[in-house]
Amino acid sequence: MDPRRKAAHAVIQMLNESGYEAYLVGGCVRDLLLDRVPNDYDIATSATPSEVQNLFARSVATGIEHGTITVLWDQETVEVTTFRTEGVYEDHRRPSGVQFVRSLRDDLQRRDFTINAMAMDLDENLYDYFDGQTDLASGMIRAVGTAAERFQEDALRMIRAARFAAQFSFSIDPLTKEAMGRCKQDVQYLSVERIMTEMDKILGSPTPHIGFQVFLHTELFHHMPPFTRWQWNQERVRERLTHIPINCQRAGKWVWFLLAFGTTADSLESRARECKCSKKDSQLFRSIMEILAQWEKVKMPDEKWMKQILLCYGMEPVVESYYIRQALTNETGLEMKELRDWWEEMPVRKVTDLSIQGNELISSIGKKPGPWVKGVLSELCRLVALGEIANQKEILLKVGGQIATKYS
Ligand code: ATP
Ligand code: MG
Repeated sequence: MDPRRKAAHAVIQMLNESGYEAYLVGGCVRDLLLDRVPNDYDIATSATPSEVQNLFARSVATGIEHGTITVLWDQETVEVTTFRTEGVYEDHRRPSGVQFVRSLRDDLQRRDFTINAMAMDLDENLYDYFDGQTDLASGMIRAVGTAAERFQEDALRMIRAARFAAQFSFSIDPLTKEAMGRCKQDVQYLSVERIMTEMDKILGSPTPHIGFQVFLHTELFHHMPPFTRWQWNQERVRERLTHIPINCQRAGKWVWFLLAFGTTADSLESRARECKCSKKDSQLFRSIMEILAQWEKVKMPDEKWMKQILLCYGMEPVVESYYIRQALTNETGLEMKELRDWWEEMPVRKVTDLSIQGNELISSIGKKPGPWVKGVLSELCRLVALGEIANQKEILLKVGGQIATKYS
């Protein structure tokens, strides 16, 4: 059994033995029923936060205001949340407060969709008050209760609906979808962070176009920060977001997404920042965009050009660019297999793979150390990678000497 599930079971058992109700709830129950590996195992319990803390010495009050205690069990962490309902929502995104309750049903009722509102006990009995199982079987995202009311409480739920549709290739129940159309304007009050957590899950899913079709159909993009601040062509966004290159991984899909909104090399960094992407992601997106720009210039790349690009950027951004290029032009000029073979067969991929080091080059040439060392080594690396010279010490020193003469 998944060690995280084992830990969750142990925590539930401990709570049960102390006289409290405790269940697996939400996303993990849905995923277990779908035969998918859950992201995390969440527990809901009738015990109050302080009762949970008293029971588990190794625990941290990570979200005490929502009643969540993180329990450490073996090497795992398990989130335990007291059954709760939510107070009134004053700003379309946050309840004014939460009330702890002793009833599982009340806790499940505050959850967003029927497929996310089920609980399971240690004997795998299912607690399904809102027909989540039926909706799971028919692939339907349906709000718990009156959809418009639930979306008015927290507008993020509309974005989550599209996210689950994308992740599971599900449809959105017509009444729920109709309510999204009516409440769409409320997404303007959401923080970009919360929106982007969901957007990243859509882009990381196997069928992002399903989620984007929902946004386009309900016109949610028109009200969603940060896109409301950008200038974009509606037709282009529609065309691109419904035809996402399926072979791309998350990074390629992100670049495709940003390009669809008219992002250029100049605006990439600031837009990625606005979307709360990490620096590392932003750099990867830049590499992909640079490769695409160079590819556009050569149109049909040859082996030498491609190997130099591989050497410069590494495999990941090249593969992502390949699939984007393929989707944009239907013509890449080479097979993915060729590309992978070239990378596999490359004798060296970086300067440290060379059979000589900088100090050997310096003493062999008898020249004062300086920036030339780095320049010569990278040129040698390029020549070896392209198969023009062998990765042998004597050869490298000889050719290195010739190259070094170019440096004053
Ligand atoms: P994932 O697999 O991505 O973790 P999840 O369904 O577990 O998906 P979480 O964001 O981890 O989603 O939330 C856990 C559970 O909390 C959900 O399954 C749902 O029951 C409830 N939930 C989360 N966000 C909301 C919300 N905005 N409104 C109502 N219920 C929510
Ligand atoms: Mg979860």
